[in-house]
Amino acid sequence: MHTALFGKEMAETEKGLIARCNRIVKGIKKDYPLLGGARIEIVLKPQKKGSMIAKRKGKRRYLIEVDYRKYVKANYTELLGALVHELAHFEEYSKMGVLGYWIFLLMSRLSRSYSRRIERGADMQTIRKGYGRALLANRKMRREDMGEVSYRKAITIYMSNEEIRKELADRKR
Ligand SMILES: [Zn+2]
Repeated sequence: MHTALFGKEMAETEKGLIARCNRIVKGIKKDYPLLGGARIEIVLKPQKKGSMIAKRKGKRRYLIEVDYRKYVKANYTELLGALVHELAHFEEYSKMGVLGYWIFLLMSRLSRSYSRRIERGADMQTIRKGYGRALLANRKMRREDMGEVSYRKAITIYMSNEEIRKELADRKR
């Protein structure tokens, strides 16, 4: 638990989580050709909604904010599942101009159906890239963490675990 760690011990664990995220991102970047040469930075920041967020900082500069509390105990696959979803967002951002990104931010705040299209699109892209199992592992962990009420709400925007499972099964055939 976050609250059980103090001082130096916590600082070490935080550094460890950032290092784990950086290693994973480095390993999967090859599957995201649109991000070639882009800089992706990982920082820890508590998230009110969700557990990670993908932000564009410049033309080829991206930032992933990771909620420490929600990922400190995550295993490799659970962490990978979250990061691949964020990289899918970056690929979309890389196609946007400055105005396009600004509109994206505005629409994400204003419209649930727009957010739904964006998030489900990122989930589907993650599955297409071959990371569906990691995505599912992440969502199962998150579901346990957030409880059924929040999960029900989350799947009005994201793909449900059932939908991800079905997509994986369909692709096997
Ligand atoms: Zn997302």
